[in-house]
Formats: sequence, structure tokens, C-alpha cells
Amino acid sequence: MPMHFDNTYAHQLEGFYAPWQGDDVPEPRLLKLNTDLADELGLDSEWLSSERGVRALCGAENPDGGFPLAMAYAGHQFGNFSPQLGDGRAILVGEILSPNGKRHDLHLKGSGATPFSRGGDGKAGVGPVLREYLIGEAMHALGVPTTRALAAVSTGEQIARETPQPGAVLARVAASHIRVGTFQFFAARGEQDRIRTLADYTIARHFPDVQESASPYLELLKSVSNAQARLVSQWMLIGFVHGVMNTDNTTASGETIDYGPCAFMERYDPRTVFSSIDLQGRYAFGNQPAIAQWNLARFAETLLPLIDASEQRAIEEASAVITDFNSLYETHWLAGMRRKLGLHTAREEDLQLCNELFEALSGTERDFTRFFRGLSDCWRGHGSTCEDNSALANWHQQYVLRAGAEEVPDDERAKGMDRVNPLYIPRNHKVEEALSSALEDDLAPFEKLLKVLSTPFDERPGCESYTQPAPPGSGRYRTFCGT
Ligand code: AMP
Ligand code: MG
Repeated sequence: MPMHFDNTYAHQLEGFYAPWQGDDVPEPRLLKLNTDLADELGLDSEWLSSERGVRALCGAENPDGGFPLAMAYAGHQFGNFSPQLGDGRAILVGEILSPNGKRHDLHLKGSGATPFSRGGDGKAGVGPVLREYLIGEAMHALGVPTTRALAAVSTGEQIARETPQPGAVLARVAASHIRVGTFQFFAARGEQDRIRTLADYTIARHFPDVQESASPYLELLKSVSNAQARLVSQWMLIGFVHGVMNTDNTTASGETIDYGPCAFMERYDPRTVFSSIDLQGRYAFGNQPAIAQWNLARFAETLLPLIDASEQRAIEEASAVITDFNSLYETHWLAGMRRKLGLHTAREEDLQLCNELFEALSGTERDFTRFFRGLSDCWRGHGSTCEDNSALANWHQQYVLRAGAEEVPDDERAKGMDRVNPLYIPRNHKVEEALSSALEDDLAPFEKLLKVLSTPFDERPGCESYTQPAPPGSGRYRTFCGT
């Protein structure tokens, strides 16, 4: 068999999904196969590229051993609860164990309408599919936990959007697709037994250490809280705006999921929003940690009856975990900031130093990514990039004093900083350029960008244009959901 499945979700969680086939499509064509990922998963790229392989990658055919299904979930979308969302345009084909023993969901997005489609067509377009491919791979290369693209397949269909678009399917892999919204689906229906089954399944799959604990469900909440604190801190350290942090897009595993309206910030501004529908700025860059905490509180609510028979005690214990998210987040973020600044030791005043940096930065037009990348220059004797702004120059003086007090050779510090401050990120205008060419059947700019983004920390000749912000006059960048 070309794919070896071991489908625990299908077999252990009956009632949590609808068995479902993808649509047949007129002309499936492989746009891109992630051969590195296929190797990692122990999948044969040659078979995946064959006619049957491509049909399996877009859901037109069920591979041997697969158990395709659409998962049920609910979710708070922009703060409002929808009791029934679910995979409206996706199916879980099955679970693959990679040679290193890790379990992965193989999931298809754009494979056709399902019982959860709520009037949607269940389809996806070539543009958004390639966009998720690019940004997910960039995130992976940046060291951020994420779902990853295995393949993009065009279907030969035209799909109805504002203007007709060529259709495509994204095959992606994830540690799992269990979301806060999965718990909410059953909590909203008062199905306590199913919440327990799902919690036990999540613990066994993602946090097996918790199994032996005296209070496993409280520990599950803590574990997910920690995974999300770590994840969102990583977003904040690279200027990533997810854009649609609904509870149905918040994973238990702590992986980034659903690259719809996301984008990278250029000029530092905590109010940065790209999504055309985020009118209140709920999911603005600077709000992301608070929103993650809000989402975890919704998760905690679904677990209360499992945490303690006394509701009062359950609320107290869960609330303490939610409150602790702030310090967990800060610990992860500060550790990341120290790496960005090349600080090798921890000092009490570091938090203040970081906060002062962002205060100084917010008054400038500086590009977030370039600023941090340029910071190592001063340790190479190239002077400071902060001189032309008095607030930044002041900050830089303090920084040099703080860092210089450590006995770390300058070149070692500079090298370490360049290993965490990327040179290449998926800049919005470059992503758009790659997608427009792809829609004209020229995948060369997509391939080039993907390659550049695969090693974001290593400077290479010929790639200068990928380090530049959008040209002046580009206007505000806008992104769209569910396209
Ligand atoms: P997303 O914004 O991709 O996280 O999707 C939110 C919800 O809308 C999920 O339940 C999706 O399955 C559903 N959805 C998004 N686009 C479509 C579509 N074209 N057809 C059916 N359901 C969709
Ligand atoms: Mg989603």
C-alpha cells in the first residue's frame, strides 16, 4: 500500500464526524508536491505524483486504508458562538505514522461540500491554496509549530467567487485537527460523556504524560494553555498576524492552523489588521495574546464538569490556569526576545528593556523584520541602525550596555541573533506577485519564493528583493477569509 493509515479518530470517536467522500473532479493536476515532507512522512513521492496519487491528494479517490470523514466542531467566530461549523470544505483522509513514529492527520481542503457546509460550495481556489502552502512552509522554516502543505492540486473546475476562479485542493498534514471548537460542539449539546471521550483522546494523542496525573483534565487545560502561549509568543516574535483566531481555529496541539487572512506585519504597529472583515481590530497583532487567553477560557468552560464535581472548585482551578496564561506567555515571549537581542543571560530588567524598545519602535516607520535583522550589525562593528531616531538611539545605548556586560564574544552574539531574526519572510507584495503569476500558469515566482522562504535565516546572493518591504505607495494590504 502506498500510504499506511492508522485511523484512530475514525475508530475511537464515532459520533464526532460524518463519514464523507471528496468530490470527483474533471482534471486533477499536481501544482506542487512537498517532496521533503513526503520523505519525512515515509510517503513515496513517485506514487503521489502518479494519476492515482494525485486523485488521492485532491479527494477524488479514496486511497487504500483511508477513512475519509468530515469532522464536527463549533466555534466562537469574532466572539459570537456558532454551535455548528465543522469541516465544510475539508475532509480528514486518515492518519499517517511517519517513520519516526509521529502521527499526522492527512487533511484535504477544498474537496467539496459536506454535511457541514451550511450552503457553502466546499471548494477552494488556486490562489488561497498556494497562499496557505507558501505561508505554512515559511512558518515551518521559521520554527513555528504549524500544519504543513503536502501538495496543491488544481481540479480543472472553475469555482464561483466574485469572479470565477480556478479550483484547487490543498493536502495538508497536522499533528491533529482537534480544536477548542471540537470540545465546544459537544459541550453546547450537553454531551458530557463525549467531552470526556474527546479529552481522553486528546490527552493520549498529544499529552500522554498527563495520563497518570491525579487531575488529568486540569493538566490537559494547562498543557493546551502552555502550547498556545508558546505558539502565540512565536507569532509575536516574527510579526505574524493570524487574522482569524476564532476558537475553531485554535488547536489543542498548539499548531498554527488555517492560513486564511493571515499576513506578516511590516512597519511595527500593534494595531495592525489585514483581514477585510476584522472591522473592530479584534484580531490585531497586539491583541493576539489576549485573544488566545480568551479562547482558552472558552476551552476551560467545556472541561469544568470533568475538572471537579463541585462547580465552584472547578471554576476556581480553571480560572487560576487561565490567569497563569499571562505569565506563561510572558516567559515564552521574553525568552524569545532575549534570543532576538542576543542576550545570553536573564535579568529582571529585561522585560522593561523590551517594552521600551517597542515603545520607541512604534513611533517610527521601521520595518519590524529588517530592524531585528539589522540589530546584529553593531556587534560586527558596523555601527547602530538606530542613530537617526533619538528614542531608538537612547534605547540602543541601554541595550549595548546591558548586552555588553555579558562575556560573550561579539561575533558569536551576532551569529546567534542571525539564527533567530529572519532575513526572508513571506512579504505581502511578493506573495501576491507569486500568486498572480501562478494564476497565469507561471509557477516560477511561486517556486522561487518558496525556496527563499525555506531557509529564512541564511543570506544568499540574488535574493535582495525578498528582504525589502512593499514599495512606497503600495497602499494598505487587505486579506480575505474563506476564499
Ligand atoms: P475558516 O474561515 O476557513 O476557518 O472556515 C470557517 C468555517 O466555514 C468552517 O466551518 C469552514 O469549513 C467553513 N467554510 C469556509 N469556506 C467554505 C466553503 N467554501 N464551503 C463550505 N464551507 C466553508
Ligand atoms: Mg478554520
